[in-house]
Amino acid sequence: MSICVFGSLNLDLVIQTPRLPLPGETLSGKGFQQFPGGKGANQAVAAARLGGAVSLVGRVGLDAWGQALLENLKIHQVDTSGVITDPEQHTGLAFITVAEDGDNQIVLAAGANGVRDGRTLEHLRSLLPQTEILLLQLEIPVELVLEAAQMAQDAGVTVILDPAPVPVHFPPRLYGLVDILTPNRGEASQLMGMPMDSIAEAKQGVRELKARGVNIPLITLGEEGVVWFSDHVDEPQHSPAFPVTAIDTTAAGDGFNGALAVALLQSLSLDEGILWGMAAGALAVQRSGAQTSLASRAELEGFLGMENGKWRMENGEWKMGN
Ligand code: ADP
Repeated sequence: MSICVFGSLNLDLVIQTPRLPLPGETLSGKGFQQFPGGKGANQAVAAARLGGAVSLVGRVGLDAWGQALLENLKIHQVDTSGVITDPEQHTGLAFITVAEDGDNQIVLAAGANGVRDGRTLEHLRSLLPQTEILLLQLEIPVELVLEAAQMAQDAGVTVILDPAPVPVHFPPRLYGLVDILTPNRGEASQLMGMPMDSIAEAKQGVRELKARGVNIPLITLGEEGVVWFSDHVDEPQHSPAFPVTAIDTTAAGDGFNGALAVALLQSLSLDEGILWGMAAGALAVQRSGAQTSLASRAELEGFLGMENGKWRMENGEWKMGN
């Protein structure tokens, strides 16, 4: 059995500038880099690097960018037979300007990711019989995500949705089709129209998401860890994050979702899945970049100290050693 990711593929085009340009201004950049990205592809790579059997269903354009993205996925052992190459679209692109002070501006050209026809759904349908977990995000049209979640639920496949970015109209029916919903703090706040600044507010948030029909709502809170709620517990739970020094938080959430999926694929418990997710997030924030920062299986096992019980909980915080 395997993990299937239904979502976006992007090429991130990053230019460094002394500061962000003003409207109408031409500014000379300092350096340029390009990186494979897109939440769908990032989650697929996150899961594959941790040893999961992963296929990605999505769409690229018939151009060099699309070919480069597919090559990269193959290097990471992701099955791309479900990625359509569309001759009428360009590959999804993200134009990212990063200023010296770290501030950034991102403009997305969705291209192939924005196409609404159902051919990708047919690819997904053909993969469902061997799929145990479906990973979804919202960088492709939400109607397709809704259909995909319905198909997966009908087939008895576990659905994990990272509702990022939150669309203007989030279809309420989607809540009931999701087994695990993994918004970050900002996304949870947008979904529910309430602040999510404290752990107490996040606990209120997961209660509300459960009332809306989500089986297991889980809000990721960056360096504050995770707040989650499931039928196995009476009250919303808080799991503190691992104490690490973050240098670039890009793709922490993608790493989290990929690791959670691999843990569940291996029949680990939800608690262990959350631990894996938090470890993958903690590893991702210690390195720069998106896919380049995602942990390998050996790194995750080393971090968690699986053989020697490296971490212990003390007064609600993680401490290293016995
Ligand atoms: P996203 O990348 O979607 O915004 P978060 O920033 O909430 O998601 O990160 C996902 C998970 O990664 C967190 O729940 C946490 O376990 C881990 N993580 C993120 N930032 C840090 C950090 N600074 N220190 C330790 N763990 C972190």
